[in-house]
Amino acid sequence: MRICRTPAEMHSACRELRQFGRTLGLVPTMGALHEGHMSLVAAARRGCDAVAASIFVNPTQFGPNEDYAAYPRTFEEDCRKLERADVDLVFAPSAQEMYPANNTTFVDPGEIATRLDGASRPGHFRGVATIVTRLFNIVQPDRAYFGQKDAAQVAVLRHIVRDLNLPVDLVVCPIVREPDGLAMSSRNRYLTPAERKRALVLSRALGRTADLARSGEVSAEALIAAMQKLFPVDPHVRLDYAAVVDPDTLLPVDDISAGALVAIAAWVGTTRLIDNLLLPPRSAQ
Ligand code: AMP
Repeated sequence: MRICRTPAEMHSACRELRQFGRTLGLVPTMGALHEGHMSLVAAARRGCDAVAASIFVNPTQFGPNEDYAAYPRTFEEDCRKLERADVDLVFAPSAQEMYPANNTTFVDPGEIATRLDGASRPGHFRGVATIVTRLFNIVQPDRAYFGQKDAAQVAVLRHIVRDLNLPVDLVVCPIVREPDGLAMSSRNRYLTPAERKRALVLSRALGRTADLARSGEVSAEALIAAMQKLFPVDPHVRLDYAAVVDPDTLLPVDDISAGALVAIAAWVGTTRLIDNLLLPPRSAQ
């Protein structure tokens, strides 16, 4: 497995891998890899001739008071996991390499970047859109693999791929969960044992909406109220948002009959966690 540290080195290594019509899959990550990330790598391995993964904690997608400095960095262990998963190339540039002082160009996805996490984290999706577009240009993958865990990110990326005619297929993989239902996340490492237990309220709230939908409830308002009820005033756990939206536009829907994305974000102590559930159209249930 080769590790590239600069965009130029990565670009030429990827060009070599794409020779003779071989397909290349890209798995962008911020490292601190867990089974959720590795499910994307496995999907890329199955779907492409060659696989590249990136490990880059992207400063431009963090707000000024967020956890950029504290974000877990476990590079050696990540590389061991990627090597075992038969990844061909790892791109791990420094922040200085990606953002030299003269770097001033950003990709602004527009309105969609202000919804869900974009409302709570202003500028977050502009940072995501910028780094992912740049990774696409450096790697030029045939397919890029993302997790449904970050449902709003998926919607924003679909939007920019369409608007900018980026020649890449986005492959979205299901959320990988711990046995008790907690969605895997690099940020779960921040949780104390007591917080780890409290964090289950997110998946429980989504489970509640799934039960309601199954029993015939179609009102988004009713689903949101049911989720909010599981978040009483508590100094340890604070709901950021509970929303029922169109998965493509991220705009609220009133009725889930045509399918909907149920998305939730909450602070557990000082850790912000997200989770979501895609409800299929009623005709498909
Ligand atoms: P991150 O390192 O958090 O930026 O995540 C890199 C990619 O892994 C993103 O496409 C995430 O959506 C995906 N991912 C993170 N957690 C999970 C999970 N539990 N299941 C599936 N994909 C995930």
